[in-house]
Amino acid sequence: MIRALWFILKLAAVIAAAVWLVERPGMVSVHWLGYVVEMSFTVALLLALAAMGLAAFGYRFLRSVLRAPGSIRRYRRSRVREAGYRALTQGMVAVAAGDAVTARKMARKADGLLNEPPLTMLLSAQAAQLQGDDRAAQQYFTAMLDRPETAFLGLRGLLTHAIKIGDRVEALELARKARALQPNTPWLLGTLYDLEARAGDWASAEGTLQQAIQAGAIPTEDGRRHRAVLLLERSFEAERRGRSDAALAHAQSAHDLLPGFVPAAARLARLLVAAGRLKPAAKVVERTWKQAPHPDLAEAYREVLGSYDALTRVKLFEKLLTQAPNHVESHIALARAALDAKLWGEARDHLKRALGIEPSHRLYRLLAELERNERHDETAARDWLAKAANAPADPAWTCGSCNAVSHAWGGLCGHCGAFDSLEWKAPTLAVSLMEPGLPPATATALVKSTAA
Ligand SMILES: [Zn+2]
Repeated sequence: MIRALWFILKLAAVIAAAVWLVERPGMVSVHWLGYVVEMSFTVALLLALAAMGLAAFGYRFLRSVLRAPGSIRRYRRSRVREAGYRALTQGMVAVAAGDAVTARKMARKADGLLNEPPLTMLLSAQAAQLQGDDRAAQQYFTAMLDRPETAFLGLRGLLTHAIKIGDRVEALELARKARALQPNTPWLLGTLYDLEARAGDWASAEGTLQQAIQAGAIPTEDGRRHRAVLLLERSFEAERRGRSDAALAHAQSAHDLLPGFVPAAARLARLLVAAGRLKPAAKVVERTWKQAPHPDLAEAYREVLGSYDALTRVKLFEKLLTQAPNHVESHIALARAALDAKLWGEARDHLKRALGIEPSHRLYRLLAELERNERHDETAARDWLAKAANAPADPAWTCGSCNAVSHAWGGLCGHCGAFDSLEWKAPTLAVSLMEPGLPPATATALVKSTAA
């Protein structure tokens, strides 16, 4: 509507101008080089307008002819870039699909077409990795270190490779360099923490763990347990350096952080005994027993009660039974104290009750011991040992990563080096390998040789 109105307005203006000119006739005469040209003013005006139009058209034509080479160059360049990005995209899709050959082909194509080293180098490295060409991948990742925008990606590639081939020293160095570039990257903090812990750098690991928890790389609950493990390891380290006060302080912190954590409670109790503080040591074991009855705690309790005679020890072990009356470990602990005190009836009573709760290899061995010591009955002892052969395996400190069994708790698996991987459980592999009467060390060796 507005356009139509505008057109009518323009038309009216032209008609008005034409009428105005017709009403005012006049002549234009030009004298030039002896020639005389005469024409009406209207014709002269129209000729002048036509000449201006022609000049404008000529100027535009000339300009486009002069600019043509540049435009063609730009057009061709944009086509090349388009093809380059297409190759890059196809290469990335091939990497995602695991198609190594296409990925490598597209990486080369994109590299030739695009002047975008950060993108093409990463694709080339990934394609090389996919093809199993680790050396080429390493070269690309190393080249990426030279440019600030790709340095972190390069470090990440090299770090992943170092972890893959098990070069933890190199991996730790790379992870620390990467953290200097991007201090709050969650996966990096989690990886760095694990590497520092595996390297036994407990103090650094504790600092990194704190950061990793804040960055959300490690859940708070898991972080609390990891921290307790780190503190315990710091306690062992302090003890090795002869700093018994620090050893005790770290163990106390670990226990306060995780009161139901058996290794922390058992260690704290032992260190308290060594410091001559028997009463607090007993309290630590008794309190923890309520939450988590465990043979290591029973062992620590025996050390706490070391100055008492065997009969008094039985009385005191009854305290543990009151903390967890229906737990198999409470009955076993009391039965062992009774065996030491030669209270055969009481020992038998608790072993039978433990058997009613949960039969195990260890229980049958204790029953055999009882038969030998009380009645010197070798046949009955052998019967119990025969039962032990078919009984469920005893729980042990078993590595969740490699299944190796360790006979004492530690922050690191002695077999695969994993940090905080030991769980108190029946080792599934050892069941088929363990023979009755086989010393624990042999069973471990068998498990290890199978796992390796
Ligand atoms: Zn392991």
